[in-house]
Amino acid sequence: MADCNETLKELDRFLDNELASEAISDLSVHLEGCVDCQQTFQFHAELRNIVKLSAKQEPLPQSLITRIEQCFGTDLNEDSENA
Ligand SMILES: [Zn+2]
Repeated sequence: MADCNETLKELDRFLDNELASEAISDLSVHLEGCVDCQQTFQFHAELRNIVKLSAKQEPLPQSLITRIEQCFGTDLNEDSENA
């Protein structure tokens, strides 16, 4: 069974629907027993929705981008340029 680190590593691929069904079952089993990972998962899923919706309409406010970058240490601007 996957541990927390493995689960979180697969999180992005899961949200991109890139995981094989066995991997998804492993994740689901882990999430059922792990509140920490559940919360991280939900947070990332919601964040993705917000970013997607915002990208369709107007650019995210810089203050929000800065906060997200601080949380995740990622550069969302770079991401959306590549998409
Ligand atoms: Zn976990």
